[in-house]
Amino acid sequence: MELLKGKENAEKAKSLEVAEDSREEVWKHPSFVGDLFQGKVRWELISPFPAQSAEDKAIGDAFLAKLGDFLKRELDADAVDRTGIIPDKVYKGLAELGCFGMKIPKEYGGLGLSQTNYNRAIGLVASHCGSTAVLLSAHQSIGVPQPLKMFGTPEQKKKYLPLFAKGAISAFALTEPNVGSDPAKMSTTATPTPDGQHYVINGDKLWCTNGPIADILIVMAKTPPKIVRGKEKTQITAFIVEKGTPGFEIVHRCKFMGLNGIQNGLLRFKDVKVPRENIVWGEGQGLKLALITLNTGRLTVPAACAAMARASLGIVRKWSNERVQWGAPVGQHEAITSKIARMTATTFAMDAVTWMTSALADRGQADIRLEAAMAKLYCTEAAWRIADDTVQIRGGRGYETSESLRGRGEEGIPVERMMRDTRINLIIEGTSEIMRLFIAREAMDPHLRNILPLMSGRTPIGEKLTKGLSVTWKYGLWYPGLWVGGGSRPELPSRLSGHAGAVNGSARRLARGLFHAMAAHQQGLEKRQRILERYVNIGTELFAMSCVLTYAASLVKAAPSDRTPEELADVYCREARRRIRSEFASQSDNDDRLIYRTGRSALEGRYTWLEKDVL
Ligand SMILES: Cc1cc2nc3c(=O)[nH]c(=O)nc-3n(C[C@H](O)[C@H](O)[C@H](O)COP(=O)(O)OP(=O)(O)OC[C@H]3O[C@@H](n4cnc5c(N)ncnc54)[C@H](O)[C@@H]3O)c2cc1C
Repeated sequence: MELLKGKENAEKAKSLEVAEDSREEVWKHPSFVGDLFQGKVRWELISPFPAQSAEDKAIGDAFLAKLGDFLKRELDADAVDRTGIIPDKVYKGLAELGCFGMKIPKEYGGLGLSQTNYNRAIGLVASHCGSTAVLLSAHQSIGVPQPLKMFGTPEQKKKYLPLFAKGAISAFALTEPNVGSDPAKMSTTATPTPDGQHYVINGDKLWCTNGPIADILIVMAKTPPKIVRGKEKTQITAFIVEKGTPGFEIVHRCKFMGLNGIQNGLLRFKDVKVPRENIVWGEGQGLKLALITLNTGRLTVPAACAAMARASLGIVRKWSNERVQWGAPVGQHEAITSKIARMTATTFAMDAVTWMTSALADRGQADIRLEAAMAKLYCTEAAWRIADDTVQIRGGRGYETSESLRGRGEEGIPVERMMRDTRINLIIEGTSEIMRLFIAREAMDPHLRNILPLMSGRTPIGEKLTKGLSVTWKYGLWYPGLWVGGGSRPELPSRLSGHAGAVNGSARRLARGLFHAMAAHQQGLEKRQRILERYVNIGTELFAMSCVLTYAASLVKAAPSDRTPEELADVYCREARRRIRSEFASQSDNDDRLIYRTGRSALEGRYTWLEKDVL
């Protein structure tokens, strides 16, 4: 057992090392969330809310109008769900509209949409048909166009981007049967041929969205390790693989709980020979490429979730006004009214977070790794709660398929399909648990950067002394500041100003708490996932509140007679502050140890007597 543990630890350490090597280490630009975890709320980075320019909005409006008409006319989402097939005329129509080149620059024949307009378009599609939204998003949020845009050579861009703009479909193949969240451990290999001009890929890739129909894929594979400073370093490399390359096989089309129309498969590579020039960004850069691609690629997930939430609001409002039970519309019974209030305020927050992160991506002057991860985490979890409430409010009709509803003469409202389609968002492009760990790791990074060189055997003693003095000086200034109140506030309607003060105060408390936890648990903190989770939850709530406040301010400024954004922001922030207080309280008053022991006991089979009378 001990031996196994030793092996497990070594394996884990290796994974962590590869993941660390693949992290984007340098923060080139400021990050609102990064600073938040340091107790500093830099409102100037997000206030005034970075609204879309009139010109960009007009481009988006025109495109969305065309796209919406097409979807209503040609895409029967229930039929896609039932048959598992997106019809050819839909692929063709989407290609003609330029949907496969939304994010491809105009010089390569694409539409060159901003991230905001792209997200608006994906949201629109998602509100109608989840499968079609995933087809488009997997193709260009993570599929070949995105990494090629960022890391491709001019020749690669010239060769492939125009094909995608015309409708060639792409896919992103990272996951394998034995590796999901921990891709560093992949087993697909790419071995150079003796002349070094080609690589031969062998291995299986699982759950590759668009894989079975893709014309061109980006495939991550292990190339021979390199010795760096006397140590063997795992090399993961990204390759462009074209459909029809001998040895490439689609073994199985996977079927899921929802998203029935997506073409997702188990792919096999058996001696698949690809030329050296198909490497993207260089040997050994593949995992980093995948992680960086996902950093912005995952921004479409919150956009799709926010759109689903907006669609749900209309459904529950109409139904709760119409449906009379116990002498009143169900919407007037407090249990339902309060659900609707929370759904509305949360949808407003999802919009605020989505449009904030999209705008920050467009502005390009901020590091949005943390914001994108939080947007993904926040919006997917909120969307799932909203889907659940929507089903509940629709009662039995929430559980009934839209075709069955129509079959007996009622309106075919696809709440059941929406719920099935939205669940996956908490898993793909980084599970919620992995998002939390990623955010926690990045939140601690500034401290680790200060402390690790002091602990490293590699740092010369003189350097340690200088660094030690500078760190003492830095913390001597920083830490006492976390106990002082105040801080700047953005320009907000007066009713919201107190909430900005609460963000400032909670951010300082968060920074203190995280710092104390690091000091108390040191390396052990990495294993205390519940502690980290609560800090990440607080940080995420603070980010959502900050977006909500500046978003509301911008809407009120644009239309001063309409105070509804202010009302929703107020409700949202009041509730969020309660959740934050509760998370802080749970950091010191919890049953973490007991719960962990109980979970381990369950895993060891101590409660198997409960698993009785089931088939
Ligand atoms: C519909 C669909 C589409 C997909 N599309 C693609 C695609 O196009 N390309 C692609 O490469 N992949 C794709 N995937 C794969 C997807 O990205 C993975 O499912 C995801 O990364 C999680 O991996 P896993 O399912 O193997 O879960 P695992 O990694 O096995 O995790 C199982 C559970 O353990 C948790 N967990 C794992 N590690 C930790 C940890 N250290 N601490 C705490 N909790 C942990 C996870 O959060 C999860 O809850 C797709 C999957 C599906 C179902």
